[in-house]
Amino acid sequence: MKPFELSIAQAITMMEKGELSSLEITRSCLERIDEVEQEVCAFITIDKEGALRQADEADRRRKAGAAGKLCGIPLTIKDLLSTKGLKTTCGSKILENYIPPYDATVVEKLKDEGAVILGKVAMDEFAMGSTSETCAFGVPRNPWKKGYVAGGSSGGSAASVAAYECFGSLGSDTGGSIRQPASLCGIVGLKPTYGRVSRFGLTAFASSLDQVGPLCRTVEDCALMMNVISGYDQRDSTSVQQNVPDFSSSLVHGLEGVRVGVPREYFTEGLDPEVEAIVRNSIEVLRQRGAKVIDVSLPHTEYCVAVYYLIAPSEASSNLARYDGVHYGYRDMEADTLLDMYKKTRSAGFGAEVKRRILIGTYALSSGYYDAYYKKASQVRTLILDDFKKAFHSCDLLISPVTPTAAWRMGENTEDPLAVYMSDILTISANLAGIPGMSVPGGFTESGLPVGVQLQGGHFQEEMLLKAGFNLEQGLQLGRGKLDLG
Ligand code: GLN
Repeated sequence: MKPFELSIAQAITMMEKGELSSLEITRSCLERIDEVEQEVCAFITIDKEGALRQADEADRRRKAGAAGKLCGIPLTIKDLLSTKGLKTTCGSKILENYIPPYDATVVEKLKDEGAVILGKVAMDEFAMGSTSETCAFGVPRNPWKKGYVAGGSSGGSAASVAAYECFGSLGSDTGGSIRQPASLCGIVGLKPTYGRVSRFGLTAFASSLDQVGPLCRTVEDCALMMNVISGYDQRDSTSVQQNVPDFSSSLVHGLEGVRVGVPREYFTEGLDPEVEAIVRNSIEVLRQRGAKVIDVSLPHTEYCVAVYYLIAPSEASSNLARYDGVHYGYRDMEADTLLDMYKKTRSAGFGAEVKRRILIGTYALSSGYYDAYYKKASQVRTLILDDFKKAFHSCDLLISPVTPTAAWRMGENTEDPLAVYMSDILTISANLAGIPGMSVPGGFTESGLPVGVQLQGGHFQEEMLLKAGFNLEQGLQLGRGKLDLG
């Protein structure tokens, strides 16, 4: 086994025993990147020198007896989290050359614990999309099948982890962007409870929905990353003062006494039969491990897509006003007047999907339409939250598909934004309600594409998700499978 094939937990154990150094592990990842990146296209920026320097430093810290929790572990970071001195583009031409003067809190925390940052990975422009195809700097590929999307918007995160270019990645999830690419790439992705992880230094898309979270190859690794990134941050007023448990201690065998709800509305038309079969099989595995399975209802599910695609663009239209050619990044230099400069800068700097969202959001917030659209959507959002609250009276977690289908071909839906929006139907409700959600590999389709299973829990119930996810992983024993690379 080569070092890059290890899990985070295994690599830490080997480094603790002195059997492996961070330099060896980091070099192994860099060699793997050299070998497969041309096909995977996960990175926007590879920081080879920086990574080797950090690895060396990590080895020194370990020798001095000062190893942090992720000391020496090579990770990638979605390109919308601020990294001091390292380009942060958000997948957009408008930030093509933007180098932040500060680290996001989550990045700072990773560095404090000794993690090695290999580079920044591709994403849909400003995290708007489900395939990473709106990225201005190359589109990540699904390592399991040539010509297929890796999902999005954290597609580079998922692809880099699935292709063994790194040990784990940080992504962001506004409507499914951690869970969906994790599902499509056969890895584990966790969107924490809103407020669990600091958003300081995360480029805002829809501030009331955005959360940062880990993508890893195992549930245990997700727990290890959660241990580091969680917690209150003074610099994010929406982060919550709540004790951070040791997430690793929730990884215990057996689900006796756990009530698993199966939301009826998540198993309706449009759900691919192969995906359904994989999820039903996973339900059986949880039952065999001691869980009690019950039927539940989330009656407002059918409104989720409409509500999300009003609220998210509304917030985006306001958040993206800051890209005006003055504060950050790209500026049109030909314009004669200030207004002309704004127009030309934004016309050339933003891609089509971002413009579409800004237009929808501006419309939904404008006087005369505000009550009919934004306000109404906010009211229905409360009903969606109430659905979950009621469901969690009778169960401890929910199990469902992550997406209605496995990954699809690149370019397939690019002309039909509505079709892509609809594919978010099973993930966006967790963001609207602020609850945690996780995708755990559940199996493969006939054609060899991975399919994830979604677990959702009540606010701050990440431990329950990790426990169930761990049991699912242990019960299924899917093995490594065969990537379609090289
Ligand atoms: N696919 C959804 C969208 O396009 C979610 C994106 C995300 O979670 N960042 O908005």
